[in-house]
Amino acid sequence: MSKYKIERADSPDSPMRCQAVTSKGQCLNKATVEGGFCPVHGGNRAVATAEAERKRLYHLTKYRERLDELDSPNQDIKNLREEIGIMRIVMEAIVNQCDGPAEILCHAPKISDLATKIGKLVTNCHNIDKSLGQYLDKNDIVQIAQEIVQVISGVVSDAEDLEAIIEGIEMVLERAFE
Ligand SMILES: [Zn+2]
Repeated sequence: MSKYKIERADSPDSPMRCQAVTSKGQCLNKATVEGGFCPVHGGNRAVATAEAERKRLYHLTKYRERLDELDSPNQDIKNLREEIGIMRIVMEAIVNQCDGPAEILCHAPKISDLATKIGKLVTNCHNIDKSLGQYLDKNDIVQIAQEIVQVISGVVSDAEDLEAIIEGIEMVLERAFE
């Protein structure tokens, strides 16, 4: 997080001036983003969060576009939705069991691993169902992945951990769509 330098704003009325107000008045440092805060007053985190959010949206949009290309049929067949829903609830329960963000961070590798395993199960269920002549719609898979990411990102605040989790889920989706 040291990549953001602490420097003075170009002028007192600069839109890049840190918005934090201290006992000495408004902070004189340069904000990391316009209308934001300097690194001393949480500007780093704002940038990291914004970057993570942008990456997350980018990743998920990428798959959404891919899906539109694939144009999957049999959208009515959704027999596996319940099973996948249960797995999603398990994931949510594990996340909720953690007492606060610190504990979540401690469990980030485990959560990431679980996300990978859920993804594999989704793929397996998909294959089994396909052999029975039914399959989970690809749109559903991306929808589930999106919701899993939302659940995790609602609790995990560390940008690097979040990125690792998203990458794991991404790889699962890559395999599922092969
Ligand atoms: Zn400041």
